[in-house]
Amino acid sequence: MTQKLVVGNWKLNGGLAANEAFFGAAGALAGVDAAVCVPFPYLAQAAARLRGLALGAQTVSEFQSGAYTGEVSAEMLADLGCRYVIVGHSERRALFGEDDAVVGRKAAAALRVGLTPIVCVGESLAEREAGRALEVAGRQLDAVLAVIGAQALARVVIAYEPVWAIGTGRAAGVDEAQAVHADIRGWLVGQGAAAVRVLYGGSVKADNAATLFAAPDIDGGLIGGASLAARDFMAICQAAASVA
Ligand code: PEP
Repeated sequence: MTQKLVVGNWKLNGGLAANEAFFGAAGALAGVDAAVCVPFPYLAQAAARLRGLALGAQTVSEFQSGAYTGEVSAEMLADLGCRYVIVGHSERRALFGEDDAVVGRKAAAALRVGLTPIVCVGESLAEREAGRALEVAGRQLDAVLAVIGAQALARVVIAYEPVWAIGTGRAAGVDEAQAVHADIRGWLVGQGAAAVRVLYGGSVKADNAATLFAAPDIDGGLIGGASLAARDFMAICQAAASVA
């Protein structure tokens, strides 16, 4: 079995001095793959200071170069040593108007330079209450597939992140999460990409990580708040290693 993958998403947090404390205390752990997605200005610092953790970014431009003020290309991320980039995070979708088509093009931009896009999907609370969780994830995945094609699917990571669980302290129950992950796995199998890792994200903490990661179709986690302190993040990595 492939080992679990734990990815930290620092969001709009960090600072040169604070980051040093993290990099000094975090490091590779046997039995788990781990990465941190830091804000753009800290990529170079992280690339120099990370010990055994992979580097990622939190978004990427769909464009390669040119008159796109403020954008950062996949080529630039690769130049700085990134292996991963998050695309389609619900905060980007909700706050920055990124729709399914944009998410697909961003995933394609990442793949073009050999980065692994971490494609986030997940339903809002209203959609869950309307019984539409599987439909929403399916629609979001189909949109990415339509842009990148089935062959490239093997090179992505998927993160199921129910919007109502992000930053709320209310993680999905393991059965609730596993049900969606099993559905995503079925979709992947249908595309000939069964081995793609499907992470769960949404209020994962050290005390619920092992339970979630033990589910058969949960291949690790995308961690927001609990990835800011090395001690919390490493405890989650440890939980992933213990169930691998
Ligand atoms: C996230 O933002 O991807 C996330 C999962 O956040 P949190 O862990 O804080 O819920």
